[in-house]
Amino acid sequence: MSLMIPDYVVDLRRGIESDEIVPYFQPLLELRTGQLIGFEVLSRWKHPLRGMVPPDEFIRMAEDAGLIGQLMEKVLLHAFSTMRRLPEYLRLSINVSAIQLRDRTLRRQVCLAAEQAGFSLKRLTVEITESALVGNIEHARTITEELKALGVRIAIDDFGTGYSSLRHLHALPFDEIKVDRTFVQTMLSRRESRKIVAAIIGLGQSLGLTTVAEGVEGEAQADMLLWMGCDLGQGYLYGRPVSDKRLERFVLEQKKATRREVGRPPNSEDATFQMDALPSQRLSQLQAIYDGAPVGLCFLDRNERYVSVNKRLAEMNNAPIVSHLGRTVAEMIPEFYVFLGPYIKRAMNGEAFSGLVFRAARADGVVQVRSTSYQPTRDEAGEVVGVSVAVVDITERESAEVALRESEIHHRYAVELSPQVPWTADAQGQIIEASPQWTVLTGLGRDESMGMAWTKAVYPEDLVGARERWTHSIKTGELLDVEYRVRTTEGKLHWMRARAAPRRDDSGQIIRWYGTLEDIDDYKRAKEELREAVARLHGVFDAVPVGIVIAEAPSGRIVMGNPQAEAILRHRILETPDVTSHEEWVMFHLDGSRVATEDYPLVRAVVRGEASGAEEFLYLCGDGVKRRVSLTAAPILGQEGEIIGGVVTIQEGKD
Ligand code: C2E
Ligand code: CA
Ligand code: CA
Repeated sequence: MSLMIPDYVVDLRRGIESDEIVPYFQPLLELRTGQLIGFEVLSRWKHPLRGMVPPDEFIRMAEDAGLIGQLMEKVLLHAFSTMRRLPEYLRLSINVSAIQLRDRTLRRQVCLAAEQAGFSLKRLTVEITESALVGNIEHARTITEELKALGVRIAIDDFGTGYSSLRHLHALPFDEIKVDRTFVQTMLSRRESRKIVAAIIGLGQSLGLTTVAEGVEGEAQADMLLWMGCDLGQGYLYGRPVSDKRLERFVLEQKKATRREVGRPPNSEDATFQMDALPSQRLSQLQAIYDGAPVGLCFLDRNERYVSVNKRLAEMNNAPIVSHLGRTVAEMIPEFYVFLGPYIKRAMNGEAFSGLVFRAARADGVVQVRSTSYQPTRDEAGEVVGVSVAVVDITERESAEVALRESEIHHRYAVELSPQVPWTADAQGQIIEASPQWTVLTGLGRDESMGMAWTKAVYPEDLVGARERWTHSIKTGELLDVEYRVRTTEGKLHWMRARAAPRRDDSGQIIRWYGTLEDIDDYKRAKEELREAVARLHGVFDAVPVGIVIAEAPSGRIVMGNPQAEAILRHRILETPDVTSHEEWVMFHLDGSRVATEDYPLVRAVVRGEASGAEEFLYLCGDGVKRRVSLTAAPILGQEGEIIGGVVTIQEGKD
C-alpha cells in the first residue's frame, strides 16, 4: 500500500517553506480614549496562484497535516520581529489552535521565537478559543500556566459561541475575555445579542478581566460598548488587518489622530499642524473621489445655470466641463430639459427629488436613460441658493431598482463647510490680522478684534484659562491649543478651539504666530456629515453593477473596493497590498504577454495621472483562472490639481 500525500499538503508545505504565510496585524484600541494599545496577528497565505487565502481555509488544513507547528514558527518570528520596531507599549495577541494546546512544544516555540527576535513576552497575549478547550482542559491548564509564568497574558476568544463557557472561564487563569464578533455585529438590531454582549462584559468585569469586543464596524456599536463598560475594541471601524509594511505607518497615523482629539494638549515637539484630516478637507477629498466616481454631479444656481460640473456628467452631456459653466440646463440638454424643467423649478422652491427616471435622445442621436436627483441647497438664512444634482446613466442597467437606490445620493456634503478662522499675531501675542469670519461670528468690528481685544468675545468663565495658555505659549514657544466659548452674533455660546504655531527667524527668535480658530460645534456637525457622506458613498459603490477599486497616491494603497470588484477578481481587495508593488495583481494582454505593473491602468492613474478608456486584459483571478476584464481608470485630483489617488472600474469582458 502506498501512502498518498494530497496535493494541497504539498502546496501548503511549499507555501510555508517559501514564506508565503505572513502575519497581518489588526489594531486593538482602548474604547474610552481611542488610543491604540496593540494588534492581533491574523495569518494570511499570499498564494502565487490563488491570491490571498484567508486563515479559515488553511489553519485547519495545517493542523490536519501536522504542519501547524512549522507554520506558527514562521509567523511568530515574523510578527515578533515586526513588533520590535514599534513602541514598547504596543502589545501583540496571537491565536493558538486546539492541536497546539495539546502540544507541549508550544511554550518552547514561543520562547525561541521571542528570543530570536528580541521581543519581550510581557507584550504578548495568547488567545485561546472556547472550542479548543473542550475535552482538553487539563492540558490547556498546564500550558497556560507555563505561559503565564513567562509574563504572557491569556485571553479567551470567541466567547459565547462555545460550550459550557462558565466552567471554562473558571478553569483557566484568563486575563482577557473577547466577545465574539457575531454578537457585536448584531447588537444594534437584535435585543438578544445586545443582552448577551452586556452580560459577557458584566461577567468579565466581575471577574476582573479585561473585556474586548471584536467585529466593531460602526460608531454606534462603539458608543454602546463604551456605555456598557467594555475596555477594548477591535474591528473594521478601527482598521482592517494590515501587512507589516503598512503597520508602522498605521501606528504613526494613529498617533496623530489621537493627538488631534479634542481636549488633548499637543505635543510640543510637533512643529506643524496636523490638519490633514479636518472634516472640511476630508470632504473636499471626498468630492475629488466623486469626480472619479461613475455618478454625474453638478450644482445649479437660481437661474438654472451650471456653477460646477464633474467630469462624469460632462461626459454624459457630451460636452466639455467648461462649456457648461454659466450656461443653463435648457441650453445644454434641451432634449432632457423638457421633462426636467418643472422639477428643477420645484427644487428651487425647496422640494427634494430622488430617482427621477427619464429617457431621451441626445442631440447626437444617442438614446440615454438617466436617473436624476435634485437637492435644494440653502444659505444660512434658509434661502435656496441653488440645486445640487446627481445623475446616473442607467441606459445599460437591467434593474431599475438598483438605479433607484443609487440615485438616492445627494451631494450636499460636497459643499465646502469651512469652520476655520485663520489669524496672525506678533511675537508679543497681539493679534494683527484675523479673517473676516471672526466678525461674522462675533459681531465685533475689525478694530475691536486686534491686539488683545478678542478677549471681549470670550465667555468670562473661560477667559482666565485661555489667557494663561496663550501667555504660556508666547513665553515658551509651545504650540497653542486651547478651547473656550465665545458669544456669537445671535447671542449663543459656541465652543471654539484655538491653535497656533510660532514662526521663527534664522536666529530662532519667534517673529509671528499663525493660528486658527475652529468652531467645534461645526466640527462635530461636519464630522457627522462626513460620516453620512462616507456611508452614502459606500452605498453607491456597493450598488453599482461594476467593480470599483480606489487607490491612494502616491503609495498606491488600496482604500476602497466594492463587492462587485471582489466577485469579478475573486480575491479580497482591501487586504491586498499596494497596487504599485503587488506581485499578485497579475494581468496579461490579450496576446498572452504579461502586463508590466507600471502599465496597469490604476497604476498609470495613480502614478502618472493618466486616464484610460475601457481596455481589455486577461486577469489572473483569485481562483487561478484567467478571465477577460475591461478596465477603465482615472486619476483623482485634489483641489490644487495634484494627484491624490486613482479609481478603476472593472467589468467582466465577453469571453
Ligand atoms: P478570530 O481570532 O476571531 O479573528 C478575528 C477575525 O475577524 C479575523 O478573520 C478578522 O479579519 C475578522 N474581523 C476583524 N474585525 C472584523 C469586523 O469588524 N467585521 C468582520 N466581519 N470581521 C472582522 P480572519 O483573519 O479571516 O481569521 C479567521 C480566524 O482564523 C481567526 O478568528 C482565528 O481564529 C484564526 N486564525 C487567524 N490566524 C491564525 C493563526 O496564525 N493561528 C491560528 N491558530 N489561528 C488563526
Ligand atoms: Ca483571535
Ligand atoms: Ca475571535
